[in-house]
Amino acid sequence: MTYDMIIIGGGPAGLAAADEADQKGLNYLWLEQGRFLQNIEDVYPDDKLVLLKGWDPKFDIELQTRFPMRDMSKTDLLSLWRNYVKSTDLSLLENMQIFLITRQETSFIICSADEKCWQADHVVMAAGRISQPNKLGVPGEDLTKVHYNLRRSDQYENQEILVVGGGDTAIEVALKLAEDNRVRLSYRRSKFQAERLHPSNYQLIQQAIVDNKITVHFNSKVKKITKDFVILSPTEESDPGWETQDYYKNEEVFVCIGSQKPALNILQGMVLALNKKGLPEIMDGCCTTSVPNIHVIGDLRVDPVYKRGSIAKSVWEGQMVIREVFS
Ligand SMILES: Cc1cc2nc3c(=O)[nH]c(=O)nc-3n(C[C@H](O)[C@H](O)[C@H](O)COP(=O)(O)OP(=O)(O)OC[C@H]3O[C@@H](n4cnc5c(N)ncnc54)[C@H](O)[C@@H]3O)c2cc1C
Repeated sequence: MTYDMIIIGGGPAGLAAADEADQKGLNYLWLEQGRFLQNIEDVYPDDKLVLLKGWDPKFDIELQTRFPMRDMSKTDLLSLWRNYVKSTDLSLLENMQIFLITRQETSFIICSADEKCWQADHVVMAAGRISQPNKLGVPGEDLTKVHYNLRRSDQYENQEILVVGGGDTAIEVALKLAEDNRVRLSYRRSKFQAERLHPSNYQLIQQAIVDNKITVHFNSKVKKITKDFVILSPTEESDPGWETQDYYKNEEVFVCIGSQKPALNILQGMVLALNKKGLPEIMDGCCTTSVPNIHVIGDLRVDPVYKRGSIAKSVWEGQMVIREVFS
């Protein structure tokens, strides 16, 4: 049997695409390597408030979904969305890691790591990227005190903590840890970029600086991490007066500097055109790549150096790809 479409990735983007395909009565299959919402379950702090609104007025006004789209706790998001998928009986296969996609005439063969294969006319890649964090590449980064996400903040109390980064994730981690610890934040730029941040995060970090709850080292980079210290040095754009390396007592480091470029090597024998940021070139209004009938949605399309992706944007693209392809 040839499916109309196979969707790879059980995150928000994949959910929206599968839900839209279901409503249109398409013959689709939706494949996830772990559990539905695996990345969010693994990476978000357990007590996080998930912000679904406020990323872009367009999404707040236009986005209509059958599953709830309001700010809510991580626990509620996991449970409400998982219950939704169960109750609507979407065609989801979990524990199916896709390993290889090859072309066969006008369709594609999609194979899992345990060698199950399916055929489809269209492939929607929604595999995200938050599970592959960027690293600093400095001495000491392999110490066990260096982390890339914060699952439970109650493990840290009265400690000297460094958070690295200046995006939404770094700010949320720094604010959370500052409730019970002394937190420094090292950011390579000279100020936070309001246009890149969720408005509430931007306001909260400004207030935390005024209230002396977080010490921010703008124009700084991590030079070295040792068991008891971190060493910060100036970036090239810094005030030339700051020429030395500064040592700070330190017990834990959280590195929140985005994620690696998507690995698109599962597409065998097909070359996707990439833009100058190394992301797939998009050839139409939404999500079609240079390989006809291969579509890319969600975080796979996001340049995390510029901005963290959002659930609302991923959901919007998931809906759009089905509407555009099967209009
Ligand atoms: C710490 C943190 C906090 C965040 N907080 C917010 C927030 O409050 N609000 C907000 O809007 N956004 C937030 N984001 C961003 C948001 O989580 C992402 O933009 C969103 O999850 C992207 O959805 P996605 O479906 O593209 O990818 P993902 O959610 O990453 O889902 C991709 C899925 O694909 C699966 N997969 C990967 N490879 C394969 C494969 N080969 N085969 C099969 N399946 C595969 C993965 O297991 C995963 O389940 C946050 C991000 C981080 C890192």
